[in-house]
Amino acid sequence: MDCLFCKIVSGEIPSAKVYEDDTVLAFNDINPEAPVHILLIPKAHITSMADINESNSAVVAHIFEVAAKIAREKGFDDGFRVVSNCGDSAGQTVKHLHFHLMAGRDFGWPAG
Ligand code: AMP
Ligand code: ZN
Repeated sequence: MDCLFCKIVSGEIPSAKVYEDDTVLAFNDINPEAPVHILLIPKAHITSMADINESNSAVVAHIFEVAAKIAREKGFDDGFRVVSNCGDSAGQTVKHLHFHLMAGRDFGWPAG
């Protein structure tokens, strides 16, 4: 499968790693939209949020544990945002499930 984030997991494409364990990888977004912009992904390929089901959802819970741990450890005391774009109309450009963890500025709502 020709998947950019699977290649980052395998090390074929380099990334600036923030966190890694057996099932989850977090790395800095190459085109940050905030002073802190980290991507959290499952190491196993899942295409998008629309493909989460009872057989693969445990890693999603774990991703949120990792996001909270990063937020605590990095001291995102003013708040942070976690976003997953699902599908073309939502702007998903990489078809491997990922969560954007952003901090360091104010965020408008609703997002455009
Ligand atoms: P999305 O548009 O929600 O699918 O998010 C994909 C994100 O991946 C974008 O924010 C890109 O800046 C980011 N991105 C693309 N290529 C890389 C890369 N090689 N390393 C890190 N982040 C990347
Ligand atoms: Zn993939």
